[in-house]
Amino acid sequence: IMQLYTPLNYLGTIYRMIQTALIDMENMFDLMGEKQEIYDHPNAIEYKCSAGKIEFKNVSFRYSPDYPILEDVSFVVQPGKTLAIVGPSGGGKSTIIRLLFRFYDVQSGQILFDDQDVTMLKQRSLRRYIGVVPQDTVLFNDTIRYNIRYGDVEASDAQVEEAAIAVEIHEKILGFPDGYATMVGERGLKLSGGEKQRVAIARTILKAPSFVLLDEATSALDTHTERNIQASLQRICAGRTTVVVAHRLSTVISADEILVLLHGRVAERGTHNDLLALKGVYYGMWMQQQSPEKGDSSATVDEASL
Ligand code: ATP
Repeated sequence: IMQLYTPLNYLGTIYRMIQTALIDMENMFDLMGEKQEIYDHPNAIEYKCSAGKIEFKNVSFRYSPDYPILEDVSFVVQPGKTLAIVGPSGGGKSTIIRLLFRFYDVQSGQILFDDQDVTMLKQRSLRRYIGVVPQDTVLFNDTIRYNIRYGDVEASDAQVEEAAIAVEIHEKILGFPDGYATMVGERGLKLSGGEKQRVAIARTILKAPSFVLLDEATSALDTHTERNIQASLQRICAGRTTVVVAHRLSTVISADEILVLLHGRVAERGTHNDLLALKGVYYGMWMQQQSPEKGDSSATVDEASL
């Protein structure tokens, strides 16, 4: 029986290795619906996360030659701190997230992780440390268990369930026809926007990354769901270097620094209180938000007209 077992075991190991490699490579491209355009530099080195600092140094970027998106953007996110990016639609907020995950290279300036230029790092070695929670989470036509485990294919069933408990979706899953074995996605059970987001957060919990890139959903969720999601997000971001495209007031209020992006340029920066005191763009957005017709504090910041 050992004779049979050894090769099978070996096949299992290879299968797991391949699966892990594929997920590392494709992971976020699938999830964010992007195509890979960047290849490793021949002299690229392995990234070994030390402190966990992120820096944008005079970054300018354009998708096409005649249309600048970001111009001379600089910021530093110290290890474990949170930077929130706000501003009107089309200002380039999500582009910053995409550049941090290196979907594209910048035309001028530098992006540094722990003082190392991203263009000189092996992408796989860097992405291993980055967790992304996109606005719209893609679910695979597979079981809910598979979909959560996607954050770490090596995770045990117990770990998958722990993550589901942390994002408060466990009970819900137990109520599905086949529990964790229930098929979800286009051809299976359709999850609501809030549930899909919680799956994305559960994946990130399993990945336990050093860096979290978060694109907050603009769509309004009910207040209860909103609070749950906010709480689980706060848990995964705590102690991790986080860059968040913020649409929620609670997010910006607790951020260590806020960047107000206007037409690809940093218009203002500081804490919530700093920016209110400035009585500028951010203050205007805040005031807009306070007006009664805008509703409660879960309304979106960047929908405020500027
Ligand atoms: P929103 O809040 O609406 O998501 P944003 O501030 O996140 O906006 P980005 O998504 O970064 O803005 O987009 C900035 C600009 O870049 C927009 O004008 C957008 O149309 C353009 N853009 C985004 N992706 C691409 C792309 N792949 N190719 C060309 N232009 C793009």
